[in-house]
Amino acid sequence: RAYLDRINATGGSLNSFITICEESALAAAEAADIRRKKGDAAPLTGIPLAVKDIFNTEGIRTTAGSRILENYVAPYDATAIARLKEQGAVLLGKLNMDEFAMGSSNENSAAGPCRNPWDPNRVPGGSSGGSAAAVAARQAVATLGTDTGGSIRQPAGHCGVVGLKPTYGRVSRYGVIAYASSLDQVGPLARTVGDCALLLQAVAGFDPADSTSVDTPVPDYSAALGEDVRGLKIGLPKEYFIDGLDADVKQAVETAVAVYRDLGAEIVEVSLPHTDYAVACYYLVATAEASSNLARYDGVRYGRRVDNGSGLIDMYCRSRAEGFGDEVKRRIMLGTYALSSGYYDAYYLRAQKVRTLIRDDFNKAFDQVDLLLTPVSPTPAFKLGEKVNDPLQMYLSDIFTIPVNLAGTCAMSVPCGFSGQNLPIGLQLIGRPFGEETLLRAGHAYQ
Ligand code: GLN
Repeated sequence: RAYLDRINATGGSLNSFITICEESALAAAEAADIRRKKGDAAPLTGIPLAVKDIFNTEGIRTTAGSRILENYVAPYDATAIARLKEQGAVLLGKLNMDEFAMGSSNENSAAGPCRNPWDPNRVPGGSSGGSAAAVAARQAVATLGTDTGGSIRQPAGHCGVVGLKPTYGRVSRYGVIAYASSLDQVGPLARTVGDCALLLQAVAGFDPADSTSVDTPVPDYSAALGEDVRGLKIGLPKEYFIDGLDADVKQAVETAVAVYRDLGAEIVEVSLPHTDYAVACYYLVATAEASSNLARYDGVRYGRRVDNGSGLIDMYCRSRAEGFGDEVKRRIMLGTYALSSGYYDAYYLRAQKVRTLIRDDFNKAFDQVDLLLTPVSPTPAFKLGEKVNDPLQMYLSDIFTIPVNLAGTCAMSVPCGFSGQNLPIGLQLIGRPFGEETLLRAGHAYQ
């Protein structure tokens, strides 16, 4: 009740929620009470959570921040949602996001932009902007987001909360509306590293319904929190400490490095030489996959449909023209072009080869160190409207998070201080594939 009151009091001005599930949340809370009294409570029983509006939720509208799905109600729960419900978690509602998770500022949402709780004139980051803002504004204990190129870590950094992108394949994508299937991954946002461990524990693990989910045992993530970082080798990739880095961000990250040194970690410099190609590579791979994934929104199978007009093709075209926003259209065009015959080898195939080089960079670095430490973003949260008319500038704000998705490994954003304007700054820890325990251990030791 307290969380719902808080959402009702502050949710409107922040625009963090697309849908609030008051009735079902109160019913779930009551059921959780009964379960707790019976003595069979799970770690998340009765815990008020909210999720990005990209997760299909049975009986509750799922829009993916798009007009084309504005009235879409899925007939089933995404696996991650089903697993939270099994534990008896309480779902408070569905959170604002960039349309189909395409964006870094939450300004591409059909529901309007979400605002940063630290400064309402600034963006919360994106695409999981609502997921980060809701945690920062104490509207939910923790939330789920998705991260294709930084969409959990970047908003977590901009809103001063913890955000974890697990290794590709660690969490099932079944029932998560697809953006770029080889990059998308589900993960938690919370106030503490410990809470992230509990959420990850609940949603991680093999799912026969997602052929890319990996069948390896899920470790006890909370157990990892107790260990210190003595002897851990942490690498600073020199390509991430560049001239364009904001002075406050640089200072905050360097202070965090000193903390790790004091805690007994060994700090070394490493190199990820193909970093410069990551953003270009990502925007070919991601848009190519998106153009294919978004072909399903034809006005027939899901969501919005205009009247038939002059026939089937006309109906398809106008349903998509009216349903999709500008950024989504831009990416469908870019991706379709990159995949078209005659250009495939020059763009998509080339990008796949570059992706392999980027992954190799990480593998080589992890031969030398246990973890990498970098800033999450080159600057703190920017002003609403500042980058909307300059897509390239917007794309570059994910320069430090995108390589991790291309490599498929795991990473976490942890708050590491404030800028001169009192805006949160995030520290990124990058781990080996399926090395979430080391991430959590190092994040917890710092926090
Ligand atoms: N900002 C990046 C993009 O627009 C990443 C988004 C994401 O991780 N979903 O594609």
